[in-house]
Amino acid sequence: MTRPALAAAALAVTLAAGAAGAAEVAVTWDADLAPPADPAAYERQLRAIVSDSRARVVAALGMEPGPLLSVQIHSRAGYQRRFGAEAAHLDAARFVGEVVHVNGGARLDDRFAGLVVHEMVHAALDARGTAAALPRWLDEGLAERLSWSRRGQGSPAPNQVAELRQALERKELVPLPGTGELSRLGYLRSWAAVVFLEGKVGRERVLATVRATLGGEPFERALRRECAMSPEELDGGFQAWVGGL
Ligand SMILES: [Zn+2]
Repeated sequence: MTRPALAAAALAVTLAAGAAGAAEVAVTWDADLAPPADPAAYERQLRAIVSDSRARVVAALGMEPGPLLSVQIHSRAGYQRRFGAEAAHLDAARFVGEVVHVNGGARLDDRFAGLVVHEMVHAALDARGTAAALPRWLDEGLAERLSWSRRGQGSPAPNQVAELRQALERKELVPLPGTGELSRLGYLRSWAAVVFLEGKVGRERVLATVRATLGGEPFERALRRECAMSPEELDGGFQAWVGGL
């Protein structure tokens, strides 16, 4: 190692130590994202969003993302180089290994902050590598729940209610998806189901169900004990709730 490299390594260690005390998440971004006029302001704002997202997720779930979590903000071109053209077209973000990748961050607005929160929920739920034990709707529904809260919305807006009721009429509202990729409607149903369930039994019971499932208990058994309902009763209650919105 050359002397300048040593100096750089020492600096990196100092920065990491300074960040570790505040449980900060490492953040990197593509150089072409920051406005050339004021890259420092971009960095400040970006770091504040990531830091706030982490704090929100920890406060809401009582679970921490793994200590190695990092966030990488890619320009559209950078995301395409990394994941291919189709992914760059379809993805808003993805969580891979210990890294949250965000597709685009030229505008650090509420939508962007919501995306970061969404992915950080996945990171917290998967801190022990067991998030796949959760039904898909619950994993994505919790991520959407905190994401929409970050954007100031706690329950479905009129247009979303209309979409949910159409799904109910077409008999596409339930069963809630246990596995697989979700459509846009799938995300909406999953979010709404979490809103319903929290309203019915309270967030604490929902989180107790989540913790037990992440710990290795079958979801259905945890749901029966913590929320006093079967998956069928959950689906039925959710349908009735949507019908009354
Ligand atoms: Zn997700």
